[in-house]
Amino acid sequence: MKKKPYLSIALAAGLAVSSFGAPAIYAKPAETPKQVQPFNVFDNKILNKINVENIYNNIEYLSRTPRVAGTEAEHNAIQYVKQQFESYGYETELQEFTFYGYTAPHTVELTVDGYSGEIKPKSFTYGMDGTVSGELVYAGLGQAGDFEGIDVTGKIALIQRGAISFADKVLNAAANGAAGVIIFNNAPGDLNGTFGSPNDAYVPAVAISQEVGQALVDQLNNGETLTGSINIEGADAGMRTSYNVIATKAPTNKNKAKDGIVALGAHHDSVPGAPGANDDASGTAMTLELARVMKDLPTNMEMRFITFGAEELGLIGSRYYVSQLSEEEKDSFVGYFNMDMVGSRDAGDLVINTPDGNENIVSQTAQASSARLNGESTPIQPGGSSDHVSFFEGGIASGSFIHRPLEPWYHTPEDTIDKISKEKLQDVAEIVGTAVYDIVRPENQGPKVNRGKEQKVPHLYYEEEIK
Ligand SMILES: [Zn+2]
Repeated sequence: MKKKPYLSIALAAGLAVSSFGAPAIYAKPAETPKQVQPFNVFDNKILNKINVENIYNNIEYLSRTPRVAGTEAEHNAIQYVKQQFESYGYETELQEFTFYGYTAPHTVELTVDGYSGEIKPKSFTYGMDGTVSGELVYAGLGQAGDFEGIDVTGKIALIQRGAISFADKVLNAAANGAAGVIIFNNAPGDLNGTFGSPNDAYVPAVAISQEVGQALVDQLNNGETLTGSINIEGADAGMRTSYNVIATKAPTNKNKAKDGIVALGAHHDSVPGAPGANDDASGTAMTLELARVMKDLPTNMEMRFITFGAEELGLIGSRYYVSQLSEEEKDSFVGYFNMDMVGSRDAGDLVINTPDGNENIVSQTAQASSARLNGESTPIQPGGSSDHVSFFEGGIASGSFIHRPLEPWYHTPEDTIDKISKEKLQDVAEIVGTAVYDIVRPENQGPKVNRGKEQKVPHLYYEEEIK
């Protein structure tokens, strides 16, 4: 993380409160002079109240179990977040939404009579349960034309990865009467694939390695007859319910009720098997702490503190939230500050992701606050993969705070509380808290809303860096 050479000196000296541009407190010997700006008085209204122990303790509580969207564990986290907001004195709303959910099977088996090696089959996301057996028939890439001249009726189609989607291969095989499908990789390594969406027309299908797949093809080409059995159990697909948790703070200046809306937030769900201490209990706990800090501060604008559900399944909760905003709300929405993965000791430096890589009021105010606090502006990087994308798509300025490169524990069972750095939490909470307050504080007059055009960002959720 970025070193913060000035803040501790200023606070320790007790000078920060009165530091209307008093540059002396930033003078540090042996440090090359940077373009350091003084703290503003308003910063201290935030800095003096942030208690990193609150953030840490809430992360610890939330990350005791994975919080997969639509599960009881996520619902427990939602209730906890709601109660925390209420304990600070906020009115809260649970915004319900439904989505199509998928639970991976607990059992995925493939045996092939006549093949003696180890197979290690994998399932496909959105694949279905089933027990089928039949003769293996090689069907090339599984394109429609590949089934001409071969008979897969009641048999298992053996198909190579490539050219068309996994789902289309399975649907083509099913349309030709196949009872099951085996897809083998076209590159070394395991194949963990998704069909992208559910479809009742799928037949049971497994993925295997290139090595095993090629060996089976070779045996078939040698004229051998192979009989396969696929058994998949425990896959569960269906409608699920999740919630966004919303705490609202009305402007303290009642005449300014229509002046604007500023939101900050995070996602409270996690991926299966990952306790999600950093992803994203860290952002959730930081949202809670900044809500606590700002509860009684004078503000010109409406503030919304939001934790979203089902982010990991494709920004479902935040997309629903933005879809429910009225035109009037969108016209007065100034910006959304997203905090996703803001506390890993093993990740890189803080960056501000904006979906298009351009600056906006979120990045600008955070760059200004980080320059005041740390003597250095937090850099902007183009990046999606979190709920700020939903706001961007709705024409609302947004940015996401994240440390990059990502820690090795990302989306693993090792994303646990012991990897969380209080120093990093403190740093991000200060930067985001003071940036948000810079916008909503009463002294800050003038138009802030810059509504952009609405647009879809289809690919930003799947970044290369995010495995
Ligand atoms: Zn996340």
